[in-house]
Amino acid sequence: MSENGQDSKIIELPISITVRELAVVLEASPIDVIKNLMANGVMANINQEIDYDTAAIVSAEMGFEPIPEQVEEEKPEEIGEIPLWRQKLAEEDLEELAQRAPVITMLGHVDHGKTSLLDVIRHTSVASGEAGGITQHIGAYQTVHDGRAITFLDTPGHAAFTAMRARGAQGADIVILVVAADAGVMPQTKEAISHARAAQVPMIVALNKIDKDNAVPEQVKQQLAEEGLVPDDWDGDTIVVPLSATEKEGIEDILEAILLVADDMDILANPQGEVFGTVIEAKVSKRQGVMATLLVQNGTLKKGDTVLANLSYGRIKAMFDFRGQSIEEAGPSVPVSVMGLNEVPKAGDAFEVVENDKEARRIVEERELAAERKVAEEKGTLTLEQLFARVQTGEVQELRLVIKADVQGSLEPIVASLENLKSDGEQEIGVKIIHTGIGRVTENDIMLALTSGAIVIGFNIGPDNIAKRMAETEGISIRKYKIIYHLIEDIQKALRGMLEPVKKKILIGRAEVLAVFPSGKYDQVAGCRIQKGEVRRNAQIRVMRDETMVYEGDISSLKHHKEDVTEVRTGFECGIGLRDFSDFEVGDNLESFVIEEVTEF
Ligand code: GDP
Repeated sequence: MSENGQDSKIIELPISITVRELAVVLEASPIDVIKNLMANGVMANINQEIDYDTAAIVSAEMGFEPIPEQVEEEKPEEIGEIPLWRQKLAEEDLEELAQRAPVITMLGHVDHGKTSLLDVIRHTSVASGEAGGITQHIGAYQTVHDGRAITFLDTPGHAAFTAMRARGAQGADIVILVVAADAGVMPQTKEAISHARAAQVPMIVALNKIDKDNAVPEQVKQQLAEEGLVPDDWDGDTIVVPLSATEKEGIEDILEAILLVADDMDILANPQGEVFGTVIEAKVSKRQGVMATLLVQNGTLKKGDTVLANLSYGRIKAMFDFRGQSIEEAGPSVPVSVMGLNEVPKAGDAFEVVENDKEARRIVEERELAAERKVAEEKGTLTLEQLFARVQTGEVQELRLVIKADVQGSLEPIVASLENLKSDGEQEIGVKIIHTGIGRVTENDIMLALTSGAIVIGFNIGPDNIAKRMAETEGISIRKYKIIYHLIEDIQKALRGMLEPVKKKILIGRAEVLAVFPSGKYDQVAGCRIQKGEVRRNAQIRVMRDETMVYEGDISSLKHHKEDVTEVRTGFECGIGLRDFSDFEVGDNLESFVIEEVTEF
């Protein structure tokens, strides 16, 4: 009960909240909140964070009953799909499984030092006794620390990583999140965090550029904590290793950290089992033909094996390690460059070893047919309605969203309102915000949506050209909104399965009026020729005169040579009568259209 004796509404408040966010929760203007704070002796501006106790006092005075927010435990196992190779591994005989080298990928904001760090680690392994100069860049390499091998994917940036995830074959066991100590958490850092979380891969933070005068490691740790990566020296679970790639400082520490995290995981494979893995990169060269770098994830790949990666296949004629040395076989976690495939496979494709070329060809033909069928079936995009259907069948337990907005100021209330929906209690299913960001919808957002089964929302902002094309080809729906209320309302409807279909007019034909005849007492019919498509008896007609529509409605009669017909096609003549219209003029265009109900926007 509030002070005024009326029933008060229970609201959940987090441990800290900005004045703006609080105003949204209280459905009040920020000015009123600020006034109330002032009355309680707290001077705060709209963007200021206030603690739970302060927010609670203000909320109570404004007629609400505040309770501490129930922090939902992160349930990463619900996000994303389990990569195919992991599913396959689960079928392996437990007894046969053996430790393999952890596979590491580096993600982070551009210029924070991913390439530098990968290079320095690569060279450290040379300095520590590996023979020969390393000149090959095959997309992955191995190093040895404390006598244990570690595999690095050295195509930095998350393009490769997400491409791999998108095909369900993502191969990294651990992500190194590279964050420059002088720049801190940036937009791509946040994206990288979302990617790693969605892929359920643990992160170690490499706090790079610690040598710089303007490095502010403690501030960056604070930012990391705000992203849910609480550093271990702050009693959190995230190992944060301060280092400098250029000064070669802290390199041992990061390798140490990798082994430490790996020890807590089951990084296993069966070297004797079925051979499969992931394509890391591939190219075609004049001299060698198709060269593909493969990461073996189970079994032992041998020279002479027939490899099949999606639609590309062939017998391995030659096989090299990352130093460019010819090798005969490669076990789990070993990256190899192979020669002999007939086509260039895509990075991220899963590969397997099959009996022989004939078997490979048979599977490829099957896959090509299946792909054609799929294209025919799936012409639509993943709409909110379809998502809801999947929720109902239990395929997904939540509506997943990737949200982009023009400015931070609009993003905050959207997120706050959507999270309110989640805690509303009425719905059995919730909203899961996979990623938020400022700026246009990018390729990366589409990737993220694709891999997480999410839809993309653009608030006051649309996709860039690449993202738009990709959304079309991958069938990802981008919904644009200008009004927060509309957005929230749609999501709410989707959660309740009440999203109303929209009626879409589909043009099926066009006819030109050649003559106008009297028919019956008052009516006139139009004598027409069909110029395009067809006119159907049960379709509707739009009468167009000089580009303007003069009438739209049902057909009352459709005749061909005085015979009633159900449809008339291109090139034929017919008489068309409309239910409530007869003022045809010679030269009018009659457009025939059907109405379809669709639930996408
Ligand atoms: P990437 O875009 O994340 O791969 O970043 P790069 O490795 O290309 O590094 C971007 C820039 O930062 C380059 O000019 C590097 O020389 C510089 N850089 C990388 N690591 C360090 C570091 O530890 N200290 C300093 N001072 N500069 C670094």
